[in-house]
Amino acid sequence: MKDTILCNLFWTKQNVAEEISQEGYTDGTVASMRELNLWFEKNKRSFPWRDDPTPYKVWISEVMLQQTRATAVVPYFERWISRFPDVKALAIAPLELVMKMWEGLGYYSRARNLHKGAQLIVGEFGGEIPKTRYELESIPGLGPYTASAILSFGHKRRAAAIDGNVTRVLARYLRLEENVAKASAKRKIQEAADALLDLEEPWVTVEALIELGATLCTVKPRCESCPLENSCLGKEIAPSLPVKNPPAAITRINRAVLLIEMGSKMLLKKGDKGKIMADLYEFPYFEMGRAVWSWGKVRKTIRTTFQMDVRFVEQLQGVFHSFTRFQAALTPFRLALDVEKEVEGYLWVEKTALSSLPFSSGHRRLLSILTRCA
Ligand code: SF4
Repeated sequence: MKDTILCNLFWTKQNVAEEISQEGYTDGTVASMRELNLWFEKNKRSFPWRDDPTPYKVWISEVMLQQTRATAVVPYFERWISRFPDVKALAIAPLELVMKMWEGLGYYSRARNLHKGAQLIVGEFGGEIPKTRYELESIPGLGPYTASAILSFGHKRRAAAIDGNVTRVLARYLRLEENVAKASAKRKIQEAADALLDLEEPWVTVEALIELGATLCTVKPRCESCPLENSCLGKEIAPSLPVKNPPAAITRINRAVLLIEMGSKMLLKKGDKGKIMADLYEFPYFEMGRAVWSWGKVRKTIRTTFQMDVRFVEQLQGVFHSFTRFQAALTPFRLALDVEKEVEGYLWVEKTALSSLPFSSGHRRLLSILTRCA
């Protein structure tokens, strides 16, 4: 059967990483991969990290792209590069500025790891991004996928970077009907990717597979426009592939957020080290349980918790804020205090300084709403 040899080839135990060859493929498969590369050269979208793929830019962009669409990443990436144009600039920057430049992307441990990683690269590798997988994976937060992307796009080495897009494309192309979270499925996809890369310019095939998954082989695939259509084994059942674990359950939380103003200052808390919101600023808040609390209940809780008597100003428009596996409904209460009072674990910050501090994105939106209402 046409191209089933491809699957049989992958399912054997050969180590394709050591024995790189396209022998054994049908002409149709090799031709399809060439078609894919040609399609990519003609249709690729322009991105700042793609147009000038230095190892540093590849590293930063790949970390930013882990949870965010490429088009949404562009302004964050450009802002980051203008502030930290190279590894050394990132290494010497204060952590608070790094967090500020990451604000809005979520998953703030990634920003902290980029900062630590830059310091390690300056200290251990003279400021140059390493060229070996072993050294790359010694950098905080830099795993096998990002290492492969840096080796492939940044250093023009042969390394198959397998992200969610590539997994989806290859699971369909190979008609892989087992759960792609299983180690055996991951191995098959890795071996297939290793073997399918172009012999002369393997980094082009890697990027082409990623681009195909981002633009045509999406959740609703457009097979009629796909350069792999003639050799794709799974196109008839493509919408049902890849087989994945069900998504993690979302936990809903309901918070009363206290926007307490005292003259020219507001009360804030800096996230504790090791916690989800570490190094980010947020307003004080309480968990409300299932229902939004009355102002009377909020006031009583403030008295008990902070030993302070605040004046109610207004209740502002609420926002939803998703982070990791949580979806938080934030209900903001605008409040005023007449005399400054020390509150352990919190700090009073001048309102003029708020815009330069890194906030969690939900509380940043509350600050914008407050600023519009003030
Ligand atoms: S033919 Fe369809 S399912 Fe197969 S790789 Fe192309 S878009 Fe994906």
